[in-house]
Amino acid sequence: MSCVSTRGDATVAFGDAILEGLAPDGGLYVPAKSIPFDVDATAGASYAGLARAILSRWVEPDLLDFESLYSFGAPIVELSGRGWTGIKILELFHGPTNSFKDYGARFLGPALGIALEARRRTGLVLVATSGDTGSAVADAMSDVPGLRVVLLFPHGKVSAVQERQLTARRPGVRAVAVEGTFDDCQRLVKEAFGTAAVPGLTSANSINIGRLLPQQVYYAWAAVHCDQPIDVVVPSGNLGNLAAGFLARMSGVPIGRFVAAHNRNDWFVRYLRGDRPVAVGSVQTLSNAMDVGAPSNFERLQYWCQGKALADLVTGYSISDDETCDVMRTLHQETGYLADPHTAVGLAAARRFRKESGSSLPTFVLATAHPAKFQDIVERATGVSPAIPPSLSAIDQTDYRLIGAELDSVLDIVREEHALLPSLD
Ligand SMILES: *Cc1c(COP(=O)(O)O)cnc(C)c1O
Repeated sequence: MSCVSTRGDATVAFGDAILEGLAPDGGLYVPAKSIPFDVDATAGASYAGLARAILSRWVEPDLLDFESLYSFGAPIVELSGRGWTGIKILELFHGPTNSFKDYGARFLGPALGIALEARRRTGLVLVATSGDTGSAVADAMSDVPGLRVVLLFPHGKVSAVQERQLTARRPGVRAVAVEGTFDDCQRLVKEAFGTAAVPGLTSANSINIGRLLPQQVYYAWAAVHCDQPIDVVVPSGNLGNLAAGFLARMSGVPIGRFVAAHNRNDWFVRYLRGDRPVAVGSVQTLSNAMDVGAPSNFERLQYWCQGKALADLVTGYSISDDETCDVMRTLHQETGYLADPHTAVGLAAARRFRKESGSSLPTFVLATAHPAKFQDIVERATGVSPAIPPSLSAIDQTDYRLIGAELDSVLDIVREEHALLPSLD
């Protein structure tokens, strides 16, 4: 299957699209066409089986071991009790780094490895992270032959557990703390891509289509477990997860409405309301992985809607930090369930949506991170400290470099890492 840019018609091979990241015309890659997917035909399949059925259109299935890539599946938890009945939580945090970013990274890593080998090339992944992407990418790509990873994160602006995960010592991975914000990290990555100084740079942010394709699978997984269409609430920042939901819906997964659940960074919510919001810098919130001023995947959503109003398909809510903590507390009191702050933003939006829309379809809330990744916040809100899963406690050695928010410092590190790539001659 091939891809096209949101800004042009020329098709490129999937392998080139994931190696390039951004299209040369500045657009984002999308599948050249959507192939319908028969949800009923996969009833009874395991999560890995469903992943194989959906993703084998993109990568030779024999080259990937889906059972080991997605052994952790995606458990569904049904809530009950006053105000919670009808809400189901799709837990996407049982992968090796405990956020939904594992689903995308674990496919993109080997897919990049396959594309590089076919082209007899090596590659360097440069990625900016506000917390969860970096560790998922580092974990998934550390042992991909011919690939090294440099990840930039904002110093002191990720949770203690996130920092441990980001800086865990891994072969082929260099973690770099930047004295600045996530926006600075993203800007530095963009600037590094803009200089011709380093060849073979690849991005692993959610502009990369190779991360979105595998995220369709859990939407289909939720749908095959219901005998009617579903509404899906997506805790959102850069709108990559929502874009994956659109892909799933276009391939025939029965989804009624999407709810985009944002924190105070509400650019998309205001857009859906009919404002013409201007892009501003992000503000810091308790759900830090969603602190995004101007969501980069908006361009894909708009492309797919082809002039129709996005508001016909998506409802948006902006949830304050206070409401996020309220929901964490009442949910725990009333059901015993511990949600992380991102999932809590989704749950708050789900309750508002069910009240306002009167929809009778099951409402799935995507639980995007494990509560133990945000131990302090969860404990402050609920009085309970979530148990640390084994994957988090297994990290013993950490290592990172600290730099100022300057392009030259990034390029120095990128060149050093580049020199460590194996020669293919
Ligand atoms: C990345 C992230 C989000 C936001 O996802 P987008 O695809 O950027 O919209 C939400 N929650 C968590 C925990 C994340 O790591």
